[in-house]
Amino acid sequence: MLKIGITGGIGSGKTTVCKVFEILGIPVFYADTVAKELMVSDPILIAGVKSAFGTVSYTESGKLNNQHIASIVFNNQIELEKLNALVHPAVFRAFDSWVSTIPKKVPYTLKEAALLFESGSYQMCDYTILVTAPVALKIARVMERDQVSEAQVMARMDKQFTDEQKAKMADYFVQNTNDTSVILQVLELHQQFLSL
Ligand code: ATP
Repeated sequence: MLKIGITGGIGSGKTTVCKVFEILGIPVFYADTVAKELMVSDPILIAGVKSAFGTVSYTESGKLNNQHIASIVFNNQIELEKLNALVHPAVFRAFDSWVSTIPKKVPYTLKEAALLFESGSYQMCDYTILVTAPVALKIARVMERDQVSEAQVMARMDKQFTDEQKAKMADYFVQNTNDTSVILQVLELHQQFLSL
């Protein structure tokens, strides 16, 4: 099964692009959504988080204590890497078992992840797509979507590689400005992937 990773900076529109692929019948694994689900459902991950950050990381009913985790990993690179070292393998396992459920007749799958390159998970993909948009547009989109300040968006952006860094690692591109047609670009990529 051909596996294609798709990424892009915050607000680039990678989820929007994935929805177009889904309309074409291509299954999409949303790694960031799955990671959040695994934090409260994967026994190995839960045990690892409790061992690394204390049993207080979860409430008695099993909910994640987001505030506690955030207070430890926010602005602490070593602790953040410790958390990532627990979460990423759990997501890799989930991706593998998800791929194994995809019917053989499906021509390819997509793995959407904000930190596809930063986490190294692009290595599990055959090819990668980078969704790009100008920084000002990305900021405006996220401010509107999440009702947050420019500074809050930029703080999240600072934790990601720049488009220039990611472009060096990507195989295919979608430009998601307001003047470009995402649908046409996706249709073109879809044809290319079918012929691979
Ligand atoms: P994040 O990394 O924060 O999850 P993302 O890269 O997945 O972001 P989206 O959620 O797809 O980005 O898009 C961000 C916002 O911009 C959404 O509200 C989406 O509807 C809007 N948006 C994306 N692309 C376009 C477009 N071409 N035209 C208009 N709005 C768009």
